[in-house]
Amino acid sequence: MEFAELWKSGGIRYLSLTRAGFLRPNGAVIRLVLFDIDGTLIRTGGAGVKAFGKTFATEFNLPEATKNVVFHGRTDVSLVRQILRENKLEESPGNFARFFDRYPFWLDYFLHLLDGGPCEGVHGFINGLLRAPDKPLLGLLTGNIRLGAELKLRRYNLWHPFEIGAFADDHEDRNCIAGIAHQRGNEKFGRALKGEEILVIGDTPRDIDCGKSIGAKVLAVATGGVRLEELEGHHPTYAVADLRMIRVEDAVA
Ligand SMILES: [Mg+2]
Repeated sequence: MEFAELWKSGGIRYLSLTRAGFLRPNGAVIRLVLFDIDGTLIRTGGAGVKAFGKTFATEFNLPEATKNVVFHGRTDVSLVRQILRENKLEESPGNFARFFDRYPFWLDYFLHLLDGGPCEGVHGFINGLLRAPDKPLLGLLTGNIRLGAELKLRRYNLWHPFEIGAFADDHEDRNCIAGIAHQRGNEKFGRALKGEEILVIGDTPRDIDCGKSIGAKVLAVATGGVRLEELEGHHPTYAVADLRMIRVEDAVA
């Protein structure tokens, strides 16, 4: 088959040619894939928001603490800081510890009470990555604290595929969390990964921004409530309704 026909025929084009080292249509091969959690890997039925509310109600006597707070794409630590500040409470290590000592208990409680599950296409996409010829390293890049991330993902049997992670415990600012995830990837590979070797997958404009902040490619998914058109307006590398809409080999080529 002529080259042009092979190219047009789809299907095998990226896989065979890329493996042969001929052609990398979208630049470098992806070595590290970093996933956001809420609205990207799973939906929890609002367990996180409810756990925040219950913790502030029981520990700080603030039953309405989360009423006007936007949680989407935020980090847990920045959310706690905002709520403490709005309620004229001291943003002290003691108050953060008081919150985060109790929050996992309520998170676990609501994760088992409420309906949730993996987002559409997640299992297929992750299995595809794990079976890929040049299997990339899978990691987490999330505004959850590490224990919260683990509780959420273990609830839906999705904790085990991820070998590295960066969390809200590492930094309060999401872009800084991205930098830490990049650094942990470098340590794992024993060399500095180029931005274009990293793919960040997330469901909000903040995920797109933080992926770009480390020079990564970004795959935006409209499974978390932000509409596809809005995500496209922030110019990710790819934007799809859900992870069934993109082939693994295209995302990591
Ligand atoms: Mg999210």
